[in-house]
Amino acid sequence: MNDTKVLVSGASIAGPALAHWLTRYGFSVTVVERAPGPRPGGQAVDVRGPALDVADRMGILDQLRAHSTGMRGMSVVDSTGAEVYRTTERTVSGGELDNPDVEILRDDLARIITESAGDVEYLFGDSIAGLDQDDDEVRVVFESGRARTFDLVVGADGLHSNTRRLVFGPTERFIRHLGVNMAVCTVPNFLGLENWQVMHQMPDGDMRGAMVMSARDNTEARAYLMFGSAEPVDYDHRDVEAQKEIVARALAGDSWEMPRLVEHARAAADFHFDSAAQILLDSWSRGRVVLLGDAGYCGSPMSGQGTSLALIGACVLAGELAAAGGDHRAAFAAYEEELRDYARANQEMAVMNLRERRAQAGQAADASAAAEVLVETGVAEFAQVVASYAVKDY
Ligand SMILES: Cc1cc2nc3c(=O)[nH]c(=O)nc-3n(C[C@H](O)[C@H](O)[C@H](O)COP(=O)(O)OP(=O)(O)OC[C@H]3O[C@@H](n4cnc5c(N)ncnc54)[C@H](O)[C@@H]3O)c2cc1C
Repeated sequence: MNDTKVLVSGASIAGPALAHWLTRYGFSVTVVERAPGPRPGGQAVDVRGPALDVADRMGILDQLRAHSTGMRGMSVVDSTGAEVYRTTERTVSGGELDNPDVEILRDDLARIITESAGDVEYLFGDSIAGLDQDDDEVRVVFESGRARTFDLVVGADGLHSNTRRLVFGPTERFIRHLGVNMAVCTVPNFLGLENWQVMHQMPDGDMRGAMVMSARDNTEARAYLMFGSAEPVDYDHRDVEAQKEIVARALAGDSWEMPRLVEHARAAADFHFDSAAQILLDSWSRGRVVLLGDAGYCGSPMSGQGTSLALIGACVLAGELAAAGGDHRAAFAAYEEELRDYARANQEMAVMNLRERRAQAGQAADASAAAEVLVETGVAEFAQVVASYAVKDY
């Protein structure tokens, strides 16, 4: 048994995955999550490349496969609903279908990881209000007023990380906006999709459109609503009704099923909106505080690698902490040394693919060629980057 007490902020993917590994190594783990309970929602996310190996080591790979989205393919439709592109080789959310990657709903993945961890203390509905550290400990005060002391604090609280803001500085210093905004929510399967996804780009405007895919044995569907913006959209991260309004305004127009989709999104209980952005930091740790997953090196949904990087990061961070025998400085340095280049390569790939897609789509001869650009650009290069790292044995 190890008497190191670790506080993890965030209970989505990175936080519970780290809790899994740390409890396995005998650390004492507390996870604080701002939401009142495990958060529902999120589209399909992907476990691929080295993250498959991590899931296998965690003993959850078979469960992930059993819960995979089971997509058969996708189509792209024009504003009248006519199909202009169809493939059973890949999907826009999950990439190539004929490979071992697992595409799974984010909330299913979060639940499976959480259930796989040992004895973890969860503090839901709370958040770190302030922390200060010295050579020996980190003293934390929570929004609820409780005060506790930990040996280490891990920020696994996403793109808008509270831990990062408190310890490293304001998000604006580290964020790279990609000029795309995205909402994700559960909608009824009103299109009658059967293990299928449909995508639509509205004819006017940069990246305005939607993707809908059936989920949970076709009993429901998950929708992505997307629009580009030259400047970052200014919005309150906690005001969901205002976010719904922003999305409805940006996607106004009588194209395909967009009006119905927007209405369903307005009614969704699990509406999640964000601008696609990346986090670029010079260093992932400060003293006894370290960042993990999107909080430290978000690649954005455009990278298709956020979830895999969170899983890999958790395995490497915990492995290095266990190997360093209590020397967190050595562990944090080794964690960053292992993953920095890989995280950066995935970020750059996302930026390149997006740029390429925008450029080529503008030159496409017709709707069918534009759809092909959208779905197929950068597929081979992406696979290369994904496979360019292997997790060492811990
Ligand atoms: C509801 C939701 C839906 C998502 N949908 C998609 C999607 O459709 N496609 C996609 O590619 N990615 C999606 N993501 C992001 C995706 O989960 C991550 O990119 C990736 O899995 C890395 O996970 P993470 O745990 O590092 O960060 P995240 O998944 O962003 O998790 C961060 C967690 O920290 C919590 N948190 C935030 N602030 C605080 C705070 N102050 N105190 C305590 N906890 C806090 C959040 O509630 C969340 O549970 C979604 C994330 C969420 C939370």
